[in-house]
Amino acid sequence: MPFSPSSRGADPENRKGLGRRTRHGLGPALATPAAVLGFGAFLALFGWAEYSNWKTQVARVEAALEQTAEAITQHADDVVEMSRLPLASLISKIEEKDGEADLAQAIDALMKRQLSASPTLDTLSYLNADGQMVATSSATRPAGVSYQDRDYFKFHKASPFPLPVLGKPILSRLTQTWVLPISQKVILPDGTFGGVVVSTIKVNHFVNFFSRYDIGSDASFLLVRGDGVVLARAPMADSILGQDMSKSDLFAHVRQTRVGAFHYQSPIDQTARAGGFHQSQLTGLVALAAASEWQVLISWASTARTRWIYAAILLIAAGFATVYWRRQMQLRQEREALVAAREAEFRLLAESSSDLITRFDEHGIREYVSPSSIGILGLEPEDLIGRSIFAGMAEDTEFLVRQATERLGSGPGHEKFLIRHVKPDGEEVWLETAMSRLPASHPAQAPRVVAITRDVSRHKRAQDELDLLANTDDLTRLANRRFFNARFEAMVTAANRSMTPLSLLMIDADRFKLFNDTYGHAAGDECLRAIAQVVRSTVIRPGDVCARYGGEEVAVLLAATDAKAAHAIAESIRVGVEEIGLEHGRNPPSNRATISVGLATLTPGQDLVTTSQALFKRADEALYNAKAAGRNRVEVAGS
Ligand code: GH3
Ligand code: MG
Ligand code: MG
Repeated sequence: MPFSPSSRGADPENRKGLGRRTRHGLGPALATPAAVLGFGAFLALFGWAEYSNWKTQVARVEAALEQTAEAITQHADDVVEMSRLPLASLISKIEEKDGEADLAQAIDALMKRQLSASPTLDTLSYLNADGQMVATSSATRPAGVSYQDRDYFKFHKASPFPLPVLGKPILSRLTQTWVLPISQKVILPDGTFGGVVVSTIKVNHFVNFFSRYDIGSDASFLLVRGDGVVLARAPMADSILGQDMSKSDLFAHVRQTRVGAFHYQSPIDQTARAGGFHQSQLTGLVALAAASEWQVLISWASTARTRWIYAAILLIAAGFATVYWRRQMQLRQEREALVAAREAEFRLLAESSSDLITRFDEHGIREYVSPSSIGILGLEPEDLIGRSIFAGMAEDTEFLVRQATERLGSGPGHEKFLIRHVKPDGEEVWLETAMSRLPASHPAQAPRVVAITRDVSRHKRAQDELDLLANTDDLTRLANRRFFNARFEAMVTAANRSMTPLSLLMIDADRFKLFNDTYGHAAGDECLRAIAQVVRSTVIRPGDVCARYGGEEVAVLLAATDAKAAHAIAESIRVGVEEIGLEHGRNPPSNRATISVGLATLTPGQDLVTTSQALFKRADEALYNAKAAGRNRVEVAGS
């Protein structure tokens, strides 16, 4: 069965000749929103992650600030405690020496010991009930200065409160530096007011202590008394010392929790700040350590920078990849459109042709069959599409077609052959098919073949008739010598290849010249026709050849026939001729028309005869022998 086009896998769209739909779901029209969505999702996720990082960083900074504040309050507690303790021993000494002349000296000595024992202590002083300096550890000792106006003096004089009190920062009259006074009322043995003992701590001591904490260049620290009075600040700001902060945000928070963090606008430099605070349970002192928000942001940014750089690289790479991908997709669509246009063109041409146009893949599966299949093959295209071109082919036809398709792959890409086809209604037609290998539109595409088939039955019949005429002898209707020669060579070759015997009979009419002379040439012709008829009716196998070799000589080639079988055939021809009983008075002893036969057999593998010439020579010799031996007989070569 010849080719016809069709579509592999019987794609219904292909069958109807419609253009192919794009194979991927996501066209460029959708690609942009998808990419934007992708980038958006990435940015959102990244932003969310960075926001979390920022929150973590802020929480970490807040914790660090709280810890710093706690360390400051602990230190302040220690310092205040160390400054408070000497006051008790001073008071004891004052009570002991009250009214004695060496009071000042005794106190001086005690003060020196105390000062040397406490490195944080700045000065120790004793003011008598009139506010006059009785003794002081300070190097400068102003004479005649009254301290009656000092807040702490007024407080102790008026209040019965006997314990040490941490006062507001004051500018020391002795050292001209800012100090924190810790004062305690002296009560004389008789119960009367005996003045005030005061120890001082330098505000700078705290400022220096704060500087040990590195929480950024914009850091600020605050030490505040439990009632809101500012005791120390770093950076140092005189104006704020002693101010009341009880109404501030800080104290609003402190009143809620002892430890915590909050964000605020600095009232001093107006910068946004994050502060951690801590209140001492012991003394009620509150410390605040604050860093500028900007500083926190900078430190966070420095840790996040590497991540941002990677994210930026990733985004840029993804951007390039998207652009590239879109371009590829566009190219692919263009290619597909081109293929679809070509396919449409192909179908238009194929469907307007009276020839049958078939396209099939490398396995011979039909992808396309033009509608002419109905007229040419008697089959609908739908019955052929998706099926192999070899399906239903006769064995020899299939062999021929397979060889042609194999040659297509390696050869010049064009093949032509003629095959017989029987239509479903039984009509036999001859089909000529030209196959061409299609150039692949891209390297990955499997090779495909287009076949153009036309019905050449009429042409073939005319050709066959011509061939018959050219190969037939007019008089006897046997094959002529030309045909015999051509077949002789082919049959010798086939016999040698298939190792089957081939027999040749050389038949010659006996004393035929005399027959002509006696009965006339026309009677001679009739006699030859009669002999030919006997030969024809005896040699009936389709592969055999009976030819008029010369004037009154007939040659018979018997394929796959050994000497014995050939002898039997020769003998039956000889008898057949004799039995015609045609009078030939000059052919004794029978006086009938007779023939002599020379028989030779080519038996591959058995003797040296392997060529047509040698076989012919032996048959001819055998014929000669038959004539010599008296005619009307069969002689076998070599016997
Ligand atoms: P032999 O028994 O030895 O074969 O004797 P022969 O007479 O047949 O010998 P030869 O081969 O010499 O003669 C062949 C004769 O056959 C010669 C010719 O007159 C005759 N002949 C050849 N072709 C034709 C033909 O086409 N028609 C007729 N009528 N006679 C022919
Ligand atoms: Mg002869
Ligand atoms: Mg003869």
